Amino acid sequence: MPIPVRQLLLRRYFEVSIRNGRLGVISLGLLLFGLAHEVPLTARLVAGAALSVVLVLRVALAERMVRGLDSPNPPSTLAHDLLLLAASTSWSFAPFVLQGHISPSNLAGVLYGALAVIAVLSVSYHSALPATVVLITASFVPLVTFMALQRTLISGVLAVTTAICVGALLSRVLAGHRTLLRALAAEQAYAQLVRELQGDGRRLEHENAQLGSSLRDARDAASRDPLTGLYNRRHLEAFAAPLADTVRRRVEEVALCVVDIDHFKRINDAHGHAVGDEVLQAIADLLGSRLREADCLARLGGEEFVAVLRRCDIGRGQRVAEALRLIVGGVEIETDAGPVGATVSVGVAQWAADETFESALRRADRALYQAKRAGRDRVEVDTVDAMRLSVAAIERTRPGALH
Ligand code: GH3
Ligand code: MG
Ligand code: MG
Repeated sequence: MPIPVRQLLLRRYFEVSIRNGRLGVISLGLLLFGLAHEVPLTARLVAGAALSVVLVLRVALAERMVRGLDSPNPPSTLAHDLLLLAASTSWSFAPFVLQGHISPSNLAGVLYGALAVIAVLSVSYHSALPATVVLITASFVPLVTFMALQRTLISGVLAVTTAICVGALLSRVLAGHRTLLRALAAEQAYAQLVRELQGDGRRLEHENAQLGSSLRDARDAASRDPLTGLYNRRHLEAFAAPLADTVRRRVEEVALCVVDIDHFKRINDAHGHAVGDEVLQAIADLLGSRLREADCLARLGGEEFVAVLRRCDIGRGQRVAEALRLIVGGVEIETDAGPVGATVSVGVAQWAADETFESALRRADRALYQAKRAGRDRVEVDTVDAMRLSVAAIERTRPGALH
């Protein structure tokens, strides 16, 4: 939201105007009223009442204009202009009316009082330049004329100095108006700048969001197998890398399952490569459905998958592997060539604290090879881990062992 510089400025003008209207005009009115004490009381009361009416109306109009400042370009109010013109001009005729009725010294006081009232009324009303210039000029002309008509040296000097004062007054009004115009131009330029910056900001945000999403897509594509949507070897290695430390420090146990579809070549040969692909996708989904969020399932290539099971010892790893085998073997996969049955063999190993991920994977692969050799559609645990499992089982059956 741009700062309404012009509004602030105008508001300030009007506030000054209202204050001047209340204080200046009242005190000057009283001064004039006192100076003109030689005039009959009724005439003075009428003049005083007229001045009060002008004052009240003027303040009311100025207040209304302040309220109307929210509009982008508050217009000059004709009623206000006319009122001001009438008030100023009538005051400027006061010396003509009073001449001969009051003493010359009091007349001089009235003259200056009238000048001051006009100045106060005019100079605080900056919003409409033409109206103000006309007003000041029209108000002072009778006064200067009056002075010139006196045909004395002193009144001639007064006429000249008053004309100079009027010039100064006009130049002040013009300067104020120029400030207003500059403020307006600055405000518009600022608003334009804010609009442009907001537009740029929105565009950048949009581009940023697009870049972010394409980056995510690219990262995702680089870490996934396009056929099954499972992670690829690259992601598997990235997943395993930070786990190496936790496994080494024995903070967490991790089991690995290598899953291979049995006689997959036969499925391809019998139904075609496309159906083979469908089977691969279905088996990938089945395997994924049995794993937890924290685990990682990847397709290593061909018809071989790896599951990294977190917070999982070899016993639990074996049970998960069994569950994977059963879920694949237990369903007929719907394909374009009709239902196709498939089984998987699984090799399991526990990632030992003193070995690398690759080494554990090799052991799981070796176990898979044993499962294949033993007839397929089965789970085999790596020999080292199998030994560990047997020792643990014996420990449990020993008399006095904790269960
Ligand atoms: P085993 O039980 O010993 O694992 O026998 P297998 O037939 O499953 O194993 P083998 O390694 O002999 O054959 C794997 C086959 O998988 C051969 C290859 O054409 C096929 N294959 C590899 N990748 C894809 C693939 O992306 N789509 C399809 N449809 N077939 C694939
Ligand atoms: Mg196979
Ligand atoms: Mg294979």
